[in-house]
Formats: sequence, structure tokens, C-alpha cells
Amino acid sequence: MASMKRVPLIAGNWKMNLDHLQAIATVQKLAWTLKDAKHGFGAEGAEVAVFPPFTDLRSVQTLISADKLDLVFGGQDLSEHDSGAYTGEISGAFLAALECTYVLVGHSERRQYHGETDEILGRKVAAALKHGLVPVLCVGETAEDLEAHGPSAVPVAQLTAALAGITGTPNLVIAYEPVWAIGSGQAATPEQAEQVAAKLREALADLLGAEVAEATRILYGGSVKSGNIAAFMREPNVDGALVGGASLDVAEFASISRFQKHVGT
Ligand code: PEP
Repeated sequence: MASMKRVPLIAGNWKMNLDHLQAIATVQKLAWTLKDAKHGFGAEGAEVAVFPPFTDLRSVQTLISADKLDLVFGGQDLSEHDSGAYTGEISGAFLAALECTYVLVGHSERRQYHGETDEILGRKVAAALKHGLVPVLCVGETAEDLEAHGPSAVPVAQLTAALAGITGTPNLVIAYEPVWAIGSGQAATPEQAEQVAAKLREALADLLGAEVAEATRILYGGSVKSGNIAAFMREPNVDGALVGGASLDVAEFASISRFQKHVGT
């Protein structure tokens, strides 16, 4: 069972889907579904976060704050810079000004399509922390990495490299997302996720000490659905999920967020 010491986090990465009008409708429906007494469960105990495109963030912030919705949100990326001549980039300061709690750093699609290296990601983690955002650092191996190096070597190396310059007791979230499981319908097994999450927690303890390692939530991501979330949440080192495709379906994402309903069944 995921540790009760860490508040589970269910995070929905919308990627480049839903414009600001669709975002408003989606967040309203999600909040309503999570609250709906008919379903018998809220997302008790779990924190539920959405990661909309940048152009949606102001609308999402306004709605959540005006209606006091029990949801948090974050950006899908940030610049390593604070401000200046970086056309198209978004500063962590701007995300913080919009009351983002979180920001994704190093999603595999950023690594793959935007050439984001571990060095760049280390600077992005530092930028997020500097602006008071909680970075959700994504790590994970490709199918080729898995074949060549086994399950945990690449994610642990990515974590170690990205956190090399970080000191103190940072508030971080780590998302273990095997690239072969993202969007493939082929999730890792709960045992595979637990094995890597445990190694990532050990690496965190080596880098930042036992206290940070114990406090840091490690999410699993890759083809999570309402039908498999409970099995992941039973694992002691898995503290939640980063959900892509299934986060666009409100009923499905709400059901994942109410994973307690499935745990023990
Ligand atoms: C993701 O892209 O972060 C992800 C986990 O996607 P999916 O849930 O669609 O596999």
C-alpha cells in the first residue's frame, strides 16, 4: 500500500489538447464529478492536479479560485531562464503568478521532440524551485534502454543528473514514466513500477538525504486507467499517477482519482 505519510497525487497531463473554453468545461465537470454524492466517493485523501496548455492556465486559475474547487494545477514545462529574449518560452515566475502549484519537467515528449538534456532539465528543476513551484521531474527508459540496461539504470541516471546541482530539502515530485508505456496501452506491471520507484527513492536518499527521500512522492505514469490504478497504489513506493490520455475523459480521470474505491477490491 502506498505510504500514508505521503499524500497521493493524481496528475492529469492534457498535453496539447483542450483550448481555454474546453478547459473551463472540463475542470467544471471534473470538480462536479469528484464531488458528486451519487458516486459515493470524493477523491478523499488524494490531491488531484491538472496540467493544461499554457493558454488555458489563466482560465483554469480563475475558475478554481472563484469556485474554490478542490483541484490544483500546473504548467507542462517552464524556461530555465527568469525573463528576457527567449521567444516562445514561459518563465517559472509567470506560472507562479498564476498560482500554479506544479510544473512538469522533462516529460519524455520534451526530451524527445525538444532535445531537452539532463543538464537543461537540472536547470529547469532549479528554476522551478527558485520560483516556488514544485517540479514534477519525469524520468523513464525507452524499450531499447530496458533491453540494454535493465529497468532502473536509465531512470536513476536521469534523476541523478537532473538533481546534481540541487541542495537542501526541496519539495519535489518524481514521475517514473517508462517511455514504452506512454500512450501505448501497455502499462508497466505494478511490480515493475515498484521496483524502479524503490530504486529512485534510494537514489533520492543518496542525493538529498533520507528525509527528502521519505517525503518525496513518486508517481507512476504510462497507460494508467481506472482498471489498473488500484494495483499501482497498493505498492509501497508508488504515491500516485501521472495520467495522459485518460485524463482527457472526465469520468475516467475522476474514477482514477477515486482510486480508494478500487483499492482492496
Ligand atoms: C504521459 O504522457 O505522461 C502519460 C502517462 O500518457 P498516457 O497516460 O497516455 O500513457
